Amino acid sequence: MSFVVEGNGQQQVQELLTSLLASADFGSWINGELVPGTGDSITLVNPATGKGFLDYKDATETVVTAAADAAQIAQAKWWAMSASARGQLMWKCGAQIRDAAEALARLECVSAGKPLRDCRVEVAKVAEMFEYYAGWCDKITGEVIPVPTSHLNYTRHEPYGVVTQITPWNAPLFTAGWQIAPAICAGNGVLLKPSELTPLSSTVLVKLLEQAGIPSGLVNVINGYGYTTAAAAIANKATKKVIFIGSPQTGSVIAAACAQRLIPCVLELGGKSANIVFADANLERAVVGAQAAVFAAAGQSCVSGSRLLVQRSVYDEVVERVASATCKLKPDLPWHEDTMIGPINNAKQYQHVSNLVSNGVSQGAVVAAGGKASQVAGGEQGFFYQPTVLANVDNTMGVAQEEIFGPVMSVIAFDDENHAVATANDSRFGLAGAVWTADLGRAHRMAAQVSAGTFWVNSYKAINVMSPFGGFGESGYGRSSGIEGLMEYTQTKSVWIETAHNAATQFGYAIE
Ligand code: NAD
Repeated sequence: MSFVVEGNGQQQVQELLTSLLASADFGSWINGELVPGTGDSITLVNPATGKGFLDYKDATETVVTAAADAAQIAQAKWWAMSASARGQLMWKCGAQIRDAAEALARLECVSAGKPLRDCRVEVAKVAEMFEYYAGWCDKITGEVIPVPTSHLNYTRHEPYGVVTQITPWNAPLFTAGWQIAPAICAGNGVLLKPSELTPLSSTVLVKLLEQAGIPSGLVNVINGYGYTTAAAAIANKATKKVIFIGSPQTGSVIAAACAQRLIPCVLELGGKSANIVFADANLERAVVGAQAAVFAAAGQSCVSGSRLLVQRSVYDEVVERVASATCKLKPDLPWHEDTMIGPINNAKQYQHVSNLVSNGVSQGAVVAAGGKASQVAGGEQGFFYQPTVLANVDNTMGVAQEEIFGPVMSVIAFDDENHAVATANDSRFGLAGAVWTADLGRAHRMAAQVSAGTFWVNSYKAINVMSPFGGFGESGYGRSSGIEGLMEYTQTKSVWIETAHNAATQFGYAIE
């Protein structure tokens, strides 16, 4: 496999790929081996340099069919194993990921353009996901229900069979682990379709899971475009449920395709989250929190706090403080140890960010920091954009209503609690939100009134695999993480056992 990428860590990444994926052409990972695609050619681009480093072919339907067949066979065997044995293998997955952590982090860094320090954190979280769900394998129990007849009635939580998971480019490894772990914990087989822009880390992850003892064929990575490869997976009869993480536009297409087949789906979509600062807050902490909320991952995070709502009495002060702190943040090559802000992942997304900022300015927003491309030594053709603060933003502007998915914060003024709630909820999204305040009662009132699946008080972006995550409104439906995320991968069966010795008489028929 030819894989040439610049930057330190290149050798480690090269070794990982060579040892794990052998020398075959890159393609899909099916039944324990690489299978080249048969469709159009796709070029992977290093976001920091703008240069292509690997070509592969879209999987398309033939390869998807092979993956679905492999998943069905492996799933039946996996489900027949004891729950404890499955849990023990999942625990080993955690250890395997921790052993390969540094190489995995570097692979994610160069292929997705994420700062190395962030990638290390995400790899550790992926190991945690397998460890957490390893513990659940033998604890998925049903209930005995005290029905009023002579039956013993109990429930079983059974796997769907094969599920298709479709993931985005902004956190490829994280989202893969996030969904694979509960899926196999519940006994399912998986077809994973990562973004065509970032397939490497997910593919390597599945190979590592197999090295830890997960049977080949249980999890298959089908690499290619959404409209061909993901669409073929959804259409394949083996797929019994779809879990989609991505944009609302694509989410709507996926939901329609699932509706055609009458199969359920979970949608984890985008956001335009409100980060609300009251005048009584610790402003120093709120300002640091506001930056972390939107500039981490260069804003390419679904929960990004891209709308900073500030009480009018401290609006100018907060804008000034945030802007001056933001001017000191310099994007840099993601593989440098101290880089906090890397590039935008791809040229199309870069253009989207740039356009939304320009539109905001033409509608009256004022650039308080950044607002244009960033020059980075060694990354002249990379997709770097300056961390940007837009002041005087009105909540009706495009920059306040559209998901920007880039390092851009729109600062909006509000007068009082009711105004803050109304502004926060004046959005088609409802993924996350936060409030900064010293008033405990207000914190609880805001938590109850802001329409969002996750809400933080005097904090931002705290998430954990133990706690449910998902959207309100156009941010999606269904939940991931925790027991709720696990239950998405099971279907409940109600079993009735007659216990009365003369029970047949209840039907009104005599026993012959
Ligand atoms: P996207 O919707 O363009 O693509 C996501 C996935 O869908 C990719 O694998 C893509 O190949 C596939 N796809 C595209 N068109 C398809 C089609 N017609 N049929 C089937 N599959 C198709 O999203 P993106 O640009 O990769 O990711 C960014 C989006 O993801 C943002 O909106 C972000 O908020 C969202 N996101 C949400 C979460 C969450 O948990 N809520 C997490 C991360 C990212």
